[in-house]
This record gives sequence, structure tokens and C-alpha cells, in this order.
Amino acid sequence: MAADTALGLQEAVVEAASDQRPLRITAGGTKTHAVGRDCEGTPLNVGGHTGIIDYQPSELMLQARAGTPVAELAAAVASEGQVLPFEPPRYGGNATLGGTLACNLSGPGRPWLGSIRDATMGVGLINGRGEQLALGGKVMKNVAGYDASRLQAGALGCLGLITDVTLKVVPAPEQTLTLTFEMDAQQALQTMSEKAATPRPLTAACWLDGRLYLRLAGAASAVQATAASWGGETLTAEHPFWADLRDMSLPFFKGAQPLWRQSTRATEPLQAETGCLIDWAGQQRWYRSSDAPAVEAGHVVLFAGGDRNTEVRGELDPVQQRLQLRLKQTFDPQGIFNPGRLYSWM
Ligand SMILES: Cc1cc2nc3c(=O)[nH]c(=O)nc-3n(C[C@H](O)[C@H](O)[C@H](O)COP(=O)(O)OP(=O)(O)OC[C@H]3O[C@@H](n4cnc5c(N)ncnc54)[C@H](O)[C@@H]3O)c2cc1C
Repeated sequence: MAADTALGLQEAVVEAASDQRPLRITAGGTKTHAVGRDCEGTPLNVGGHTGIIDYQPSELMLQARAGTPVAELAAAVASEGQVLPFEPPRYGGNATLGGTLACNLSGPGRPWLGSIRDATMGVGLINGRGEQLALGGKVMKNVAGYDASRLQAGALGCLGLITDVTLKVVPAPEQTLTLTFEMDAQQALQTMSEKAATPRPLTAACWLDGRLYLRLAGAASAVQATAASWGGETLTAEHPFWADLRDMSLPFFKGAQPLWRQSTRATEPLQAETGCLIDWAGQQRWYRSSDAPAVEAGHVVLFAGGDRNTEVRGELDPVQQRLQLRLKQTFDPQGIFNPGRLYSWM
């Protein structure tokens, strides 16, 4: 049921700011022990702030309150033959729109369909002074360039409490089909790169446990022509592989071992074949291992598990660190939002 609790949230922030008391923003609670560091503070729950504010299918625009479950938004746009372009994880149905933006989470289609950061046109935000800000706009042309609303993507709530998000939506593809091939990881990396470089309707490419999965989506004629020329076995349309990958519910993601995420070039050599999952046609690799994988290029984060009190997102150089601190100072001068969740020093 839709509920506007913005006023109560704003009052809670004003009160916390006057007491200089830290707040820990919570919503669906699906990513509390992942993505960022552990953090202390009085819980402030955005989960009750729900509902679609404005949806205009003909304008390809959707605005919803931050606590709205992503699954609810996906169902609403599906009823109009549209999809959320960044294929957001739903994590058992509890993932919220605000949490997805704060964690900058996008699904297997990201290299082809874009990220939630790309799809965000505007954001409502309560800053650390308790002021309600409207960042960005409702149409793409008003937010060309790097708008402040997009700073919230990946900020893990450290810059403020997101109250609503305006997104771009896109038409659903006419047909979707998945091809699978048995091959080792090295062959898969090469095959993914070759296929991704061709003008074909590829929208996801993943390798796991000796099998390459390629998803085709778009005009039926293009999907069928590509499937006929690429060969392989076809997965049934009902097969949950991509949904399980998107929601990190494949058996690979289960278990207590630390989970590392490497963002890198598709051509980068692989660290290990066992305990590894390759996504985004080689640009995103997941490793399960007790120690950080010794990768040479790209960025590695301790995504889940392990010691969540360390710098799970790696170190920043002094220039980046100064920039981050200046942003934090501007949005949240007293440091009341999610202290230490992104970095220990912020
Ligand atoms: C088409 C394509 C080409 C690519 N090519 C390359 C390539 O050539 N080389 C390469 O190395 N990678 C490449 N990548 C991978 C790319 O680097 C990853 O997509 C990216 O790092 C994943 O990060 P993200 O956007 O999900 O953000 P995150 O993983 O959330 O963040 C990335 C980094 O930025 C920081 N950050 C982001 N937002 C904030 C914020 N608001 N406040 C504080 N910190 C923040 C995070 O802490 C993290 O360190 C490519 C990806 C694509 C899709």
C-alpha cells in the first residue's frame, strides 16, 4: 500500500542533526551485510515510504518513493509492455528502489542496457540539515551531464536519505532467448568478447561451472537469425538462470566464504576457474575465496562476507579522498548519515 512518510523522516533527521546523533538508514534490509562496511547508528527505516508517485508510459518515465519494492515497480511497468532498463536485483522481493540506487546495483544486462545511475533522471533527498532537496528533473534532457542526483548511485546513503527516484523506463524486447555452450573459462572469455563486438542483440553473457550463457533480446527476427547462426543449446524461456544471477541466488553465491567482485576489462586474464563466476561478458568477475584475488587490473571490492570493518571497497588515493570528503561535508556536514558505511574515514 502506498504511504508518504516523508514528513516523519524529515523530522527524524532534523532531530538527529540537532542531537548530532548518527543515523543508520535501512529499508528492505537485503544488503545490510554486503556492499559496504558495518555501521552504527539509530535505525531510520525508509521501508514504509512507498508507492508510485507518477508513471507516464508514453513519456518513458516513472517516479516512485524510495521504499517501494523494485519487484512492484517491475510489475507495474511490465503491465504497460515496458521494463526497468538496468535489470535491478530483487533479492527475494524485498529490495527497494532507494537501496538499489544507493548501492548502484544493476543486473546482468548492464554493459548493454546501462546502469541505474544512467537511468536516474532525478532524486528527492533529505540532506544532513534535514532539508528536502529536489535534484535533477523528470526528463533526460534536463539532466544531461553528471547531475547531483547521480552522485547518490553508490554513495550507500552517506550523502543523504533518498526519498524518491525518477527513472527512465524502456519498451520490453519483443523476444528473449538464451543459448548455452559447454566450454572452459578461457574459451568463454574469448567467445564473449568476440560475440559482444558483433552487431547482434546480445544483452547478457555469463560463464559458470564450465558453461557459457548468452542471452539474446530484441526484435524477434534479429534474435532468431542470431540464434540460428550462433548455434548452441537453447534454454527454455521459463528457466530461472538470469533471474537467479540477477538476484545472486545461484548456489555459487551461497555459503560463508568471502565474495569478491572485480570490475575490469573483458580481456583481463582470469585468476582462477574454480570459485569464479564471469559476468558482463568478462567485465565483472566474482570470486569466492578467503583472501582477496591477486588481480592486476580493475577494481576489487569485498562485496559480501569477510571482515566488514575493513575498507571493503579498497583504498582511495588522496585526491579522490579529498573530493569524497568535500561532497560529504556539503551534503551532510555533521556526518549523521551511515557513518563509516562507505569508508572508515567518512
Ligand atoms: C561497457 C563497459 C566497459 C568497461 N570498461 C572497463 C575498462 O576498460 N576498465 C575497467 O577497469 N573497467 C571497465 N568496466 C568496468 C567498470 O569499471 C565497472 O562497470 C564499474 O567499476 C562498476 O562500478 P559501478 O558503476 O557498479 O560502481 P561501484 O562498483 O558501486 O563503484 C565503483 C567505484 O566508485 C566508488 N563510488 C561510486 N559511487 C560513489 C559515490 N557516490 N560515493 C563514493 N564512492 C563511489 C565506489 O566506492 C567504487 O570504488 C567497464 C564496464 C562497462 C559496462
